[in-house]
Amino acid sequence: MAELSITVLGCSGTYSSSSSSCSSYLVRSSTTVVLVDAGPGSSIELQRHVSLHDVDGIIISHEHADHWSEMPSLYHAYRWGVERHHVPAWGTAGTKRLIDFVNPEATEFVFDWTTIDESSAVTVGDIGFTFSRTDHPVETLAMRAECDGAAIVYSSDTGPGWSPESFGQPANIVVHEASLTADLEDQGIPHVTGAQAAVNAAAVDADLLVLTHVPPGEDPEERRTHALRADFSGRIDIAAPGRTFSV
Ligand SMILES: [Zn+2]
Ligand SMILES: [Zn+2]
Repeated sequence: MAELSITVLGCSGTYSSSSSSCSSYLVRSSTTVVLVDAGPGSSIELQRHVSLHDVDGIIISHEHADHWSEMPSLYHAYRWGVERHHVPAWGTAGTKRLIDFVNPEATEFVFDWTTIDESSAVTVGDIGFTFSRTDHPVETLAMRAECDGAAIVYSSDTGPGWSPESFGQPANIVVHEASLTADLEDQGIPHVTGAQAAVNAAAVDADLLVLTHVPPGEDPEERRTHALRADFSGRIDIAAPGRTFSV
């Protein structure tokens, strides 16, 4: 099995905290680097791990600002800094509209943009991505990255009406949002608790669940404690900027 890893660049839910930018991850094999989501401020941590030249592609899960709004900064960097154009990028139609609203030619000139939906399949280097629409107010694509039999699922944002079972295949690692404290379960909020994240990780036989997207000022350990009550036999860890989880 080839090495496939996910590095947390930012994991703060909804807005940045004093210690983390919003959602952003690097999915890497031994030969390929993919930026998954680009929450505000995330290019700081990104450049601690790779050069902007080394990013082989960018995939944005949905149009909420906490997942894409570093793209205007990356546009500046690629247009006038490192002067690299036609960086491959994929995302939902709504995300494209917003990126182009800020910089009208961004998805033509600087990014080589392809609009995707849940039926899409994307290959970047030796990593293949498939998608599944989650339970969230705008079109939101969870994704499953696979390289030589190793697989990582990233939930993006979702309410309880979605499960990674929809990919129809197991995953070694599930990086799952756990925005809600236990007392907010079943309140109709389009996010989930640690326990729901663990149920979802169990549904795809994951060895490792990484809890993420916890809002600023809230305790990720509360999510882990709640997750431990669910029937999931794998390991449960917590996302933090700079941490890498490997298959
Ligand atoms: Zn979010
Ligand atoms: Zn969202």
